[in-house]
Amino acid sequence: MKSKAINSSRTTIYRDAGFELFDAETTSSAFQNETNNEREPGLYIYSRYRNPTVVAAEEEIMKLEGSAWSLLTQSGMSAIDTAVSIFQKGKKTAPWLFFSEIYGGTLSYADSILKRRRGLDIQSFVPASERYNITAFESVMKTLHPEIVYIEAISNPMLIVPDAVRIIKVAKKYGAKVIVDNTFATPYLWKPLESGADIVIHSATKYFSGHGNITAGVICGNDKEIMKACIEYRKFVGHMISADDAYRLHTQVQTFELRFRNQCSNAAIIAELLNKSSLVKKVWYPGLKEHPSHEEALRLFGKKGFGGMVTFDFAGKTKVEKKKRRDDFIKAVTKKIKLIPSLGDFRTILMPVEAVWGTKYPEPGMIRISAGFEDTDELIGTIKKALESIK
Ligand code: PLP
Repeated sequence: MKSKAINSSRTTIYRDAGFELFDAETTSSAFQNETNNEREPGLYIYSRYRNPTVVAAEEEIMKLEGSAWSLLTQSGMSAIDTAVSIFQKGKKTAPWLFFSEIYGGTLSYADSILKRRRGLDIQSFVPASERYNITAFESVMKTLHPEIVYIEAISNPMLIVPDAVRIIKVAKKYGAKVIVDNTFATPYLWKPLESGADIVIHSATKYFSGHGNITAGVICGNDKEIMKACIEYRKFVGHMISADDAYRLHTQVQTFELRFRNQCSNAAIIAELLNKSSLVKKVWYPGLKEHPSHEEALRLFGKKGFGGMVTFDFAGKTKVEKKKRRDDFIKAVTKKIKLIPSLGDFRTILMPVEAVWGTKYPEPGMIRISAGFEDTDELIGTIKKALESIK
C-alpha cells in the first residue's frame, strides 16, 4: 500500500533512480522529450537526468538569484566544471582567463584538469597591487581575446572585490562569456546576471545550505542554449545532486537571507573589533576603509553589507611570535568557534590561512573567520576574551 499525505506542506523526497514509464509508447515519448533538455521535463525518466525534488530546490534558488534557470549539482566544483566545460570545443578553444585571486580549488582545477589533462590554453589575470586594474584588464582582453572570463564577486581569502560591473562590460565588448562565482557575495549583495554575466555559480555548500550538512553547487543563467548545454553536461558527466541533499537545500535555502543579513552584521562587528586590537597587524574586510577594494565594494554592494567573511593577520616581531599568537587564539576560541575548513555555516568557524594556502599566503599569523549568526555580544565576548588571553 502506498501511503501519501495529502496535507504535507513540504516538498517530497523522490528517491526513484528510474521513474515508472508504464509502456513502450510513453517510454519512447519521454526519451524523445529528453533530447530537448528542459529543466523540468514533462515526464521524469532517471534521477541522473532530472528529479522533481531537485527541481523544487532549483526553483527556490531561481527566486534568489533572479535567474530563468538554476541547475543543482553535487558540489561547487561540479558546478564550475559544468559551467566552463560547455564552452570547450576540442583542444582549439580560445584562451580561458581566470582571475588569480580566486578559490584555490578552482585554480588547481584549471591547472590540473583544464590545462594539464585537457590541454586547454588557461591564462590568469594577475591583480595590479592587490586591486584588479580595469585598464590592465582591457589590454589583456585586447591581446588574448579569451572565450571565457572567470571571476569571484568577493575573492577567497583576501576578500578582494573586483570592479565587476566594468569587468563584465569590457569582457563582453571583446566577445567573452563571463562566469561569476557568487558564493561569497551571494545574491543578497549582488546579482551578477543583472549586470550582464552569462553564468553565475555558487558553492551551495556554503551560504545557501548554511548548516554545514551537505555539499552542493548551483549554476544560474538566463540563456536557454547555455543552460541546456549545462543540463546535457550534468547528465552525461553525472554531476547531479541527490534528492536527499536537494531536499535539505530546499528547506535551508529558504532561511538564507535571514542568516546572511545577520552574518554580514556580525562580520562587520568582528572586523571593527580586530582592527582596533594592537595584537592585530592587518584586517582584510571589504567594509573597512583600509581594504584595497573598499571603493569597489561600496559601488557594487551599496550599503547592504560586505559579506560574512573577515581575514586578519596577527602582529609579531618574528614569524614564531605570530604563529604562537595564531595558535593561542585558536586554542582559546575553539570551544565556541570551531576550526572547520568551510564557510557560510550558521555557526562562526575559522581557518588558519597559511596551513591551507601555504606559499600563496605564507603569513603564519593569518586567520580567516566565517561569521555565523550567534548572539553578537556573546560572539564578541568570545573573541575579546581570546585576544586578552594572548600575550
Ligand atoms: N567556490 C568558492 C568561492 C569556494 O570557496 C569553494 C569551496 O570552498 C568552491 C567554489 C567549491 O565548492 P565545493 O566545496 O562545494 O565543491
